[in-house]
Amino acid sequence: MRISAIAAFLCLFSTSAFAEEEVRISLFADKKEVAVSGKSLAIYDAEVGDRIATGDSALVAKDGLVEVVAAKKVVARAKSVIVEAKGGVRVASGVYLGRIEVSTGARGALSVINRLPLETYLLGIIGSEMSPEWPIEALKAQAVAARTYAMQRHMMMRAANKPYDLESSVISQVYKGAERIRPSVIRAVKETRGEVVAHRHGLAEALFHSTCGGKTASAKSAFGREVAYLSPRTCKWCRDSTRYSWKLEMPLAQVASKLGRYLKGADDLERKDGASSVTLKAKRTEKKISPRQVREALGYTTLYSERFTAETKGKKVEIHGSGFGHGVGMCQWGARGMAVEGKTYREILEHYYFGAGLKRIY
Ligand SMILES: [Zn+2]
Repeated sequence: MRISAIAAFLCLFSTSAFAEEEVRISLFADKKEVAVSGKSLAIYDAEVGDRIATGDSALVAKDGLVEVVAAKKVVARAKSVIVEAKGGVRVASGVYLGRIEVSTGARGALSVINRLPLETYLLGIIGSEMSPEWPIEALKAQAVAARTYAMQRHMMMRAANKPYDLESSVISQVYKGAERIRPSVIRAVKETRGEVVAHRHGLAEALFHSTCGGKTASAKSAFGREVAYLSPRTCKWCRDSTRYSWKLEMPLAQVASKLGRYLKGADDLERKDGASSVTLKAKRTEKKISPRQVREALGYTTLYSERFTAETKGKKVEIHGSGFGHGVGMCQWGARGMAVEGKTYREILEHYYFGAGLKRIY
C-alpha cells in the first residue's frame, strides 16, 4: 500500500489537468437500522441503478441485504442502495449533501457512506473545525489544510482499496454534514478552490490542531518521524484561546487508579519543566512513562496536551499545561490571531508549514 500511495502522490503533479475528486465519508458502521428523509427522496438499487423506492424510509440490515421499510412494510430489498434528496439527505441527526450509499457491512450492521465532491465536503467541515465567525483569512487557511488532508487520505485509501476515505469523527476531521455551512465558509472554500499545501512532488501532511500554547511541536517529537516542514514554530497568536495555558487539579487516588496499568498504587506523580517523561512513584519503586501515555489514560479532553508539568501536593496532583491537541502543524487559534493582525492565508500556511508551498491543482 505504501509504495502505491507514494506512486500516487508522485503522479499527482505530473498530470497537468487534475480534476476535483469525490470523497467517501463513513458516517455509521455499527447501526442495524437508519432513518433517511428529505425533499423528493429517492432510493436506487446501487447495482442495477433502478429506482426502488421514494419518500422517507427506514433502511434495515437483514440477511446480508438492505431492506427499505416504509409505513412498517418492506417495500424493496437490495444488496446496496443509493439515497438522494434535494438539498441533502437527513440520516439519523445530520443532513448530508451528495449521496448516501448503504450496504451491509461487518457483523451484519449497515455501512453508511456519504459520497460527495471534495469541495462540497469542505463546505461541511470548515465550520466544524473553526467558528464561521472567525476572520476570512483564517477560514481560508483551514480550507487549504483540510483540502490537503482529505486529498491525501483519499489517495491513500483508494490505493489500499478501502471502501471509504474518512470518518466523520475527530479521528479524521469533524464532519457534521450540511449543518454549519455559512456564507463565510462558502467564500473561504471558493476563494481557495483546488489549492493545497505541497512539498516537493506531492501533497504535504497538512496537520492542524486547536492551540499550540506558544510553540508548535515537531512531527518527530509527537509521532517519532521526521517531516521537514513540520518543525517547531514559535506562535504568539493563540493567546486568546482559553487553552493557551491551563491548570488541572485531580485527586491523587483518581490519577493513580487511571495509571494503575503502568504502576500499581502510585502515591506520587511528577514531571519537571522540560522533562521528556513523567515519573510515577510507589513505596520503593518508580517508573517513567511518556506524557502521551498519561494523556491517553486521563483522557484527551481532560489533559488537553502533552505539554505540561505535574506535581503531587498531599492528596492532589497539580498539573500546569499549555495548548490543546497534538501541537503539530497549523495552530488554529494561531491562524485566527495572525488573520486578526492582517496576515493572509498564504502567510499563515507558510508560517506553520515552513518550507512547504502552496499549489493550485485544479
Ligand atoms: Zn499557537
